[in-house]
Formats: sequence, structure tokens, C-alpha cells
Amino acid sequence: MSAVISESLCTGCGLCARICPAKCISVEEKAVVNVSRCISCGHCGAVCHAGAVSSEGFKAFSVHDTEGSDVERILQGKRSVREFLPGAVSN
Ligand code: SF4
Ligand code: SF4
Repeated sequence: MSAVISESLCTGCGLCARICPAKCISVEEKAVVNVSRCISCGHCGAVCHAGAVSSEGFKAFSVHDTEGSDVERILQGKRSVREFLPGAVSN
């Protein structure tokens, strides 16, 4: 599973590249992911205001889903990496 960026939706703002913990997104006019280095954390999708990021092979999941074990739901509801900044992220 890796992040996929829609060229038609991407505005080239660069937020995803700034937040990516693996530093695998480059932006010239549009964002491009080096999929060999992507760790599938989902940060880029979380910050993208344009809805340009999707995840290849990702099965949509809600933490309120009643199927599966509680442990499985908790684990799937967590991101693997978190990175906090001292201030608000601006556009
Ligand atoms: S945050 Fe979204 S719109 Fe901005 S560069 Fe990344 S993919 Fe493109
Ligand atoms: S999923 Fe994570 S590692 Fe992969 S491109 Fe997005 S922010 Fe970077």
C-alpha cells in the first residue's frame, strides 16, 4: 500500500511534502511520491486540502465498524507515525 496523488486534483501547495516523515514526496508543479520509500502512514492524505491523495490497496475502514475484533479495530484505527509541530500548519 502506498500513497497515490491525483495529478488533476493536486494544487502543488507542498503541504504533504513538508509533513511526510519518510521525505518521499517531491513537488515541482505537482506532488510526486517515491513509492519505494513510502511507509503508508497516511499523513499526506490527512493534510491534503484538495482531496488529491488516496491509498493504493487501502480498504476503507471505520473505527465504528462492528465487524472484526476490538484489537483489530483499534490497531487499524491508528497511524503508524505521528509528527507534531509546535504551531499550526499554514497553507
Ligand atoms: S497537499 Fe495535496 S494539493 Fe498539496 S501538494 Fe500535496 S497532494 Fe498536492
Ligand atoms: S503515506 Fe506517509 S510516507 Fe507515504 S507519501 Fe504519504 S506521508 Fe509520505
